[in-house]
Amino acid sequence: MSLAWTIDLVKELGETKVFTDEATVEKLSKDFYWYSPVLDKRLRDKKADAVISPANEREVEEALAIAYLHRIPVTVRGAGTGNYGQAIPLEGGLVLDLSGMDRIIEIGDGYARVECGVKLGVLERKARELGQELRIYPSTYAKATVGGFVCGGSGGVGSITWGNLWDGNVLEAVVYTMEERPRRLVVSGEQLYDYIHNYGTTGIVTEVVIPLAPRTDWAQAVVQFGDFESAVRFGEALSERDGIAKRLVSPIEWPLPSFFKPLEKVLARDKSVVFTEVAGEALDELKELAASFGGELGHVIEPAMYRKTIGLSDFTWNHTTLWALKADPAYTYLQAGFDRPRYLEQLRALKAEFGDELLMHFEWIRGGGKLLANALPVVRFTTEERLYYIIETCRSIGVEIYDPHTWMLDNGGRGAVQGMQVRKKANDPLGLLNPGKIG
Ligand SMILES: Cc1cc2nc3c(=O)[nH]c(=O)nc-3n(C[C@H](O)[C@H](O)[C@H](O)COP(=O)(O)OP(=O)(O)OC[C@H]3O[C@@H](n4cnc5c(N)ncnc54)[C@H](O)[C@@H]3O)c2cc1C
Repeated sequence: MSLAWTIDLVKELGETKVFTDEATVEKLSKDFYWYSPVLDKRLRDKKADAVISPANEREVEEALAIAYLHRIPVTVRGAGTGNYGQAIPLEGGLVLDLSGMDRIIEIGDGYARVECGVKLGVLERKARELGQELRIYPSTYAKATVGGFVCGGSGGVGSITWGNLWDGNVLEAVVYTMEERPRRLVVSGEQLYDYIHNYGTTGIVTEVVIPLAPRTDWAQAVVQFGDFESAVRFGEALSERDGIAKRLVSPIEWPLPSFFKPLEKVLARDKSVVFTEVAGEALDELKELAASFGGELGHVIEPAMYRKTIGLSDFTWNHTTLWALKADPAYTYLQAGFDRPRYLEQLRALKAEFGDELLMHFEWIRGGGKLLANALPVVRFTTEERLYYIIETCRSIGVEIYDPHTWMLDNGGRGAVQGMQVRKKANDPLGLLNPGKIG
């Protein structure tokens, strides 16, 4: 414990909250950046000098004041499941591990007020016991924290009905600034855009209020198709069917389902699939709709078994990439926004040029009230040049790519970065919060 600032931290927070040992610092300096071979190469050696684990707001405030005094960079960490190296300290300094701030403060009618380190899975379970549930959550909900999702995520399960983080899915946040005397701000309304998906660069979020939905008894159903295009078109029709309550509509191209080892016995060979979560009473209607697109209902997990077995969402969103990576470490992924009116044309063009180098996996969601044809194609990686050729080809035909192979907020993020830059100057005048992530 030789650094002067760590001695100050120990004095204020006590020895048990401050870590400088190699193993802890290394572990808590890393996230899931290695999903990207581009980031893997560049971020492998980055790490903090120390980690602290505050238990409450007062300790966050004290730690920030000490770091400011010594001009030490501060990078926040929730559960460290982000994919873009968001939680990796590029310039060393202090990692603020907020996973211990995990108090559910209040669950009211239609909302939950929580400390930032509460795991989304824990909150979902508690809310469901009380007849409510989360509106949206990432497929990493079992580990991921509310603060990490708000500050580093975008959308996920539930986004097909409720949109992404920017669609009213955060109601209020308590934020600490990085100044000589850190200020405690209570932020709501449009000002939240400066903090949602901010990578902890504009302030530290210690408390969040999120909206809850009434609980639904979800059935999980696999719908199988002989070809991927029918699967995506069925997904679109299901997404538009207002009468069917839904949480997940994920078309996945064969052979990706062949990588889902735990489902090996229940998935048909050579079939593209749509993984769905729909209200239990809608299963018959789902079956009929599937038939009209040439699809067949396959494996079904009844509502009574919700969360009692591995769930279908454990194979969707970026978990699809995880299963591909387990099968072959050469896979990586992209995040794509197809242009809804011509998405089939775009899909055909990409498949014609890239074939199995680009395995398709859509996530139908709503954003800004509109149905969006979003996708997380799984890419067989060879070289960076080839990866960026694929990205440029997508862009040249009007498929937007939100590049997951960069840690820069401006490139990969979808928030209002210009507003954030202004906010950063006010809240973090010395640029100490997660330096190097925002241009
Ligand atoms: C297999 C897999 C699947 C995934 N699926 C999804 C998905 O469906 N949807 C999705 O959006 N993401 C997804 N992700 C990315 C990630 O899991 C989620 O965004 C998750 O919500 C991040 O939460 P976390 O607690 O791990 O955050 P972390 O990784 O710890 O942090 C994320 C970012 O937020 C900052 N941060 C964390 N807490 C705070 C705070 N309290 N105040 C200020 N800044 C903070 C960190 O500095 C970092 O920049 C996936 C990742 C993997 C590996």
